Amino acid sequence: MPDKIVLLPDNIANQIAAGEVIQRPASAVKELLENAVDAGATEIKLIIVDAGKTLLQVVDNGSGMSETDARMCFERHATSKIKSIEDLFHIKTMGFRGEALASIAAVAQVELKSKRAEDDAGTLLEIENSTVMRQEPVAVPNGTSIAMKNLFFNIPARRNFLKSNAAEMRHIVDEFTRVAMSFPHILFTLTSNGQQLFHLEIGTLKQRVVQLLGNHYNAKMVTVKDDTDYLNIYGFTGKPETAKKTRGDQYFFVNNRFIKSAYLNHAVMNAYQEMIPSDSFPMYVLFIEIDPEQVDVNVHPTKQEIKFEDEKIVYAFVQAAVKHALAQFSITPTLDFNL
Ligand code: ADP
Ligand code: MG
Repeated sequence: MPDKIVLLPDNIANQIAAGEVIQRPASAVKELLENAVDAGATEIKLIIVDAGKTLLQVVDNGSGMSETDARMCFERHATSKIKSIEDLFHIKTMGFRGEALASIAAVAQVELKSKRAEDDAGTLLEIENSTVMRQEPVAVPNGTSIAMKNLFFNIPARRNFLKSNAAEMRHIVDEFTRVAMSFPHILFTLTSNGQQLFHLEIGTLKQRVVQLLGNHYNAKMVTVKDDTDYLNIYGFTGKPETAKKTRGDQYFFVNNRFIKSAYLNHAVMNAYQEMIPSDSFPMYVLFIEIDPEQVDVNVHPTKQEIKFEDEKIVYAFVQAAVKHALAQFSITPTLDFNL
């Protein structure tokens, strides 16, 4: 009997891996926006056509790439962000797995244009099925533009699995909101089918939160700010009257990365205690700054789940910080000397 095991060719391996990283247009939004942030951009444009099913493009004015890097960036496990195993414990960038662009190039037609400030010409690349179809020098502004066209054109089953444009667009706006919230010193725009949905000027965190979540929060948030030796917490938490029957505007960021944590949500809910009905949800936007060694973000490809080295301490600090911010609304009984 002959041996039977073969190594899968790159394009097949990439397509399999892409299933985890790129599930829908919104996943590509997250990856491409994070790459632009990591590239040091001060201006990032997101352009969408047909909820990202036809076109999803991110244009930034960041560092750009050399001709060689422009080709390398589509290889799997190709990254400029970590070099050694130690780096994995000190991650300061949003990306580090070197998987996103390889995955996108496996499941869509991609056009990349990129130029560094020090180069005279930029590079244009067209890729399909993980294969370079065209490469030439091009005159472009400094920075990078990556256009993803016809997502899942080569995987009809997954393309059919996409939801309605309205539903996919909601996911896109969610991802855009999560990244834009974290970087108020970067200008972001979002255009969908030629219509500008967001134009977020550079400003304060408060201005960014209100631009993204609605003006009605302007006078309805209290500032959270607690610095300890172990971590810093800052942001905003809604006055008790912002509590709604549906879970909505609740955001946690750890070292600028949006995360989902039922555990920390519980810490916030605990801080509100009797201030709100137990079946209602207050708004909050909370940023935790912590030594990267104290967190493991490498738990899941999308990095939305993370592990804290000491979860209980973080819980206690979050609860205390929010409680502190809400002290003015506390209705805990105080001694009444008239009785
Ligand atoms: P990761 O972000 O995990 O490193 P990606 O596949 O998202 O992996 O990107 C691969 C590499 O391509 C990055 O490490 C970076 O060097 C380069 N790159 C990607 N997007 C950009 C961009 N917008 N500007 C400059 N370089 C980029
Ligand atoms: Mg990336």
